[in-house]
Order: sequence, then structure tokens, then C-alpha cells
Amino acid sequence: MAGSLPAHARVVVIGGGIAGCSVAYHLTTLGWRDVLLLERREISCGTTWHAAGLVGQLRATQNLTRLAKYGADLYERLEAETGQATGFRRPGSVSLARNRERMHELKRLASMARCFDVDVEVVTTAEAGRRWPLMRTDDLVGALWLPRDGRTNPIDTTLALARGARQGGATILENTAVTAIRVENGRVAGVKTAAGDVTCEFVVNCAGIWAREIGRMAGVTVPLHASEHFYIVTEPMAGVTPDLPVLRDTDGYIYVREEVGGLLMGGFEPVAKPWGMAGIPADFAFSLIPEDWEHFQVLMEQGMHRIPALETAPVRRHVNGPESFTPDGRYLLGEAPECGNFYVAAGFNSIGIASGAGAGRAVAEWIVGGEPPMDLWDVDIRRVAAFQANPRYLRDRTVEMVGALYAVHWPYLQPATARGVRKSVLHDRLARRGACFGVVMGWERANWYATAGMEAVYRYSYGRQNWFSCAAEEHRAVREAVGLFDQSSFCKLRLEGPDALAVLQRLCANDVDVPPGRLVYTQMLNPHGGIEADLTVTRLGVDAFFIVTGAAAATHNTHWIARQIGAARAVLTDVTSGQAVLGVMGPRSRELLTRLTDADLSNAGFPFLASREIWLASAPVRASRVTYVGE
Ligand SMILES: Cc1cc2nc3c(=O)[nH]c(=O)nc-3n(C[C@H](O)[C@H](O)[C@H](O)COP(=O)(O)OP(=O)(O)OC[C@H]3O[C@@H](n4cnc5c(N)ncnc54)[C@H](O)[C@@H]3O)c2cc1C
Repeated sequence: MAGSLPAHARVVVIGGGIAGCSVAYHLTTLGWRDVLLLERREISCGTTWHAAGLVGQLRATQNLTRLAKYGADLYERLEAETGQATGFRRPGSVSLARNRERMHELKRLASMARCFDVDVEVVTTAEAGRRWPLMRTDDLVGALWLPRDGRTNPIDTTLALARGARQGGATILENTAVTAIRVENGRVAGVKTAAGDVTCEFVVNCAGIWAREIGRMAGVTVPLHASEHFYIVTEPMAGVTPDLPVLRDTDGYIYVREEVGGLLMGGFEPVAKPWGMAGIPADFAFSLIPEDWEHFQVLMEQGMHRIPALETAPVRRHVNGPESFTPDGRYLLGEAPECGNFYVAAGFNSIGIASGAGAGRAVAEWIVGGEPPMDLWDVDIRRVAAFQANPRYLRDRTVEMVGALYAVHWPYLQPATARGVRKSVLHDRLARRGACFGVVMGWERANWYATAGMEAVYRYSYGRQNWFSCAAEEHRAVREAVGLFDQSSFCKLRLEGPDALAVLQRLCANDVDVPPGRLVYTQMLNPHGGIEADLTVTRLGVDAFFIVTGAAAATHNTHWIARQIGAARAVLTDVTSGQAVLGVMGPRSRELLTRLTDADLSNAGFPFLASREIWLASAPVRASRVTYVGE
């Protein structure tokens, strides 16, 4: 794969792991031949080479499942297409449940799988035992059988993608590290390497655990952190055959598969070991992290519990390799909000082999088509915020996110680590009133209030929630009287300038050319009529608008508006952290507010969708008449 560095390429892909090779391959299948992949050392030398190679198909959403299914299908045919073997096959997989809650989760997964067209069967413990004779089954309540799940050889599969990319016209250069990224007028313009500079239209950051650093070169937040991830491989064992399905015993944190007649057993321990806090060593290539048997013990014990024969099986290899994890456990895909034509495909949370093919295809289609090829919001990089670049935050969250992969995915589950990043001015008062907080975009938000004698703590369940009666009480109060909502986490923007109205009229589905002091509820649509943003727009003056939109979509929506301003004379300012928002809602809200203000709040004096500054007690506030609870 030697060659000389071109002075220009339409797309530069940074990183020759499975993600980068997949992006390059898929760009060429879409007819883009002017693609240059730059790899610091050698293809697959980062995380990819030591992956366990499990290729599960079932993911959290339909589109992510579609991409994973596509990956398995691609790996199956890649050898015939490229001449490079991949080692892919489909031994199927068995997922176990040790308790009722997990079984409930597995059954939900099975229903989802059927909707997503993934072959699945809920099986008895006895049936699971027949498929995995070495395993102990007396403590199980049931299992899932996914006959089409696969496994592959990560190095060979990556080489096959690389070969396919080269056959399609891409250039792949090894031993060529990108050292800087040139950005001009907010867009990518080129990359620097020790061998020279390359101008380009697009950069794709597929640098795995290095992707955060590469992002920083272009001012892009890529919130991921490396963690140690472990597995062992035993010598050949009696009863282990190549057709043994992949086994997932998530209540015991482990996965197991056959490897050269022995077993490969790894897992996702509840308290993980973040890695690379002082930076990733420059010479880290085909490298591992030193063994840590003490840390591995929790997985080893669970492995021996499930497969008693492991107790006496000699261990041939102990693998401890770094993998990148993100704060919400989902990978990062798409065009970065901070820099035009800078794309990311990284942070795979231990499913990069299974998801690399589909993620690469999605990014390639996104680049060529100029928009996401399907709803990819779960993994869209525009869901993250700048504060998440903080290494300490990432390290703290990573301790939890590794184990979260195999923990029960409870409804309403909140992270326990890296909390308290953003708090409203009322936070402590709400806490004293029994608030149980959840987190969105780093904001601590009161999700419900504990009633007398109750602890403000989630007791997770697939059944009725422990806060059910608390929510009912709140609901009744707002329906029959009045409730106060701290909505400070809303994203708040000001759009000002002579062209502000024209920009908004172009972007909004509703007519926002209203008199100052009026508020409009509207969506922003894309050219297909799909919803890009859901917001209220308040006209403050002839050339000034105040935009309020949801916290979770803050980066996405801000970016959507900012990108569309173009050469128009309008300035967008994020004022989220500068303004608190209180919602006062319910039939007695006027009665409550009237006690605090001399302003006329009557229907005639303050009609629905009016917005103006008033004195509320001693504070100047912008009061807007709108509701989120129905009026
Ligand atoms: C022990 C272990 C077991 C795993 N098992 C599985 C599994 O069974 N199934 C599964 O789906 N996933 C598994 N994974 C996860 C999977 O291996 C990763 O998600 C995947 O390999 C990540 O691929 P990548 O291309 O994003 O990163 P990498 O493979 O790390 O590729 C990034 C590349 O970027 C290069 N690079 C960095 N900086 C620069 C620069 N400045 N210029 C040029 N190049 C640069 C690096 O050298 C590297 O080659 C496992 C991970 C581990 C650690």
C-alpha cells in the first residue's frame, strides 16, 4: 500500500481501522474515486486488530439495526467481491437471562427484532443448554436465539474493505500521520502531514481513540475516552466446536465464543478502567495494555460460574486493548457542527466491527448526498455539546459506560457518574423540595418530586415506576390548579440583524412576520418536509428574534440555523446559560402571577402568544403566554 502523497484529494479519511476503511470503500462504491485514506502506522493497528469480532445485528433502533444487518451481509460477500478472505460466518448467538427483569428485556428485544426483520426466537433454558452444552443452566430463566448473528476476523475484514476501496480507486497510504487540519471560512480546506500538505474538500475523522485529538485540530468536539477492555483465550477445550454460537450472559457481564478450539471470553465489567488520561503513546500500534488479572477477576469468576470447564482450561492469551467510549454509549457519526465538511465516524463503544460497515456506508452517503441518508439522530454528532470535550467529564463517565453496555437498559435510566455539570439557579431549592433529577445535555433537571416519606431516587423497573403517584399528583395540580416548571435547560438563541426576519421566514414553516411582542410556535423543515427543529420564535423588535428550543437538540438546532444564515446580515447568539426560564401552568396560573405583578394579565390585556417584559415582584422578566400542557 505504498505510494506518494497527492497534493489534493476530494476526501481525506483519517485512520485505517475498520471505520476508515469502510468509509473509503463506500465512497468508492458511490463513484467517488478521489479518496485518500491516511493511516498513522498500518491498517488495523489501532483498536481493530484485537477485537473479538462479534457481529451482532440487533441494535436499539430500526435504522441502527438496518446498518448492522447490512454490515453482516457485506462481510459475507466481501471475499467474493475483493478476493480477500474475511473469516465471516454465522454461528448465531444465544443471550441469557438470569432473572425476570432481564427476561422481560430479552422479550422486548425479541419483539423489536421481529419489527426490524431480524430472525429471533425466545427459547427455554433447556433449549439454550442444548445449543451451548458446556454451560450451566440451573440459574437461568430463559434465553434468546438469534440464528443469523455472526463473527468475523477483524483484521481480514478491514483488509478486505481496504482492498475494495483501492479496487474502487481510493489511495491508501500507511505511515502517514495527519498532524494538522487546515480550516478556511469555517470549512475544511486540507490536512498536514510530515510528507507534505494535501488540500481537500472533505475530511472524515475515523481515528478511533485518537479521534478526540483529531477533532481538536479543527475545533470540533469529539467526546470519547479510551477504556481498557479485556478478554482471554483458552487452549482448546473438549466440547468446543467451531459452530458453537456466540454466548452473551449479560447478567454476568460476559460474552464467549469459540476460538481455535478454545474459548474467547471477555466482558463489560460494572466499574471500568479508563485509559490514556496522559495521552496515547505515539508508538501505540498493534499494541496492548499490560494485563490486569485483579481487574479481570470479576469477569473470570462469572465466566467460571457459567462455564465450569473454564476453571481448569489453560489460558493461552490475555488481551487488554483500548476501545473508545462515549458519554451516552452511542457512536458519533456525521458532519460536525463546528466545521463544514468535517465528518466523524468514531467512538464505537465496542461494537465497531459489527457497526463499522453500516456506519461507513451512512457517512459516505451523507457526504455524497449532503444530508443524513436516514434518521440517524441516535448517533448524530450534533447531539453532543462542547462541554463534553472535558477530559475529566469523559473519564468519569467512561467508568460507568463500559458496564452500561450489558446492564439492563431500564426505561428512564439516568447516568450515575459525571453529574452536576449544568444546574439552574433553582437547583438547590428544587432539591430541597424533593426533586429527583435526570440529565439532558449536562443539565440537571427535576424529573419528579418525592412525596412525604419517599426517597427522591429512581427504582428502575419495566413495570410501574416508583414515581408514578408523584407524577399523578403533579399532573392533577397542573390540571386543576397551578404548577411551576423549571425550564431553564431550554436552548435560548437570539437572532438579530437586518436580515433576521428573512432568514427565519426561509427556515420556519409558520409565518414569523408578526408584530413585536408576539410569539410563534413553529417547526423548521428540511427540503423533504422533514422536521429539523421544533421551536418558538418571539419577535422582540423589527430586527430581533428570541428563539427557544429543546435542550436535547440544542447543538443540532443551533447549527441548523447558523448554517442557513450564510451571507445574510444576521447574528445568532446563544444565551442559554444567561437566562433562567420558569413555566407557570395550569388554570390558576393567572391568579398566582397576578399576586406578583401589576401588569395586566387578562385575556384582553395579555392574549395567548403575547410576549412582553413585565415586573414580577422585584425582577424584570420576559413573560410569554404559551403552554406546554394544553390550554
Ligand atoms: C478487546 C476488544 C474487543 C472487541 N470486540 C469487539 C467485537 O467483538 N465486536 C465489535 O463489533 N467490536 C469489538 N470491539 C470494538 C472494535 O474493535 C472497535 O470499535 C473498532 O475496532 C474501532 O475501529 P475504528 O476504526 O474506529 O478505530 P481504530 O481501529 O483504532 O482505527 C483508528 C486508526 O486511526 C489511526 N490514526 C490515529 N491518529 C491518526 C493520525 N493523526 N493520522 C492518521 N491516522 C491516525 C490509528 O493508527 C488507527 O489505526 C472490541 C474492542 C476491544 C478493545
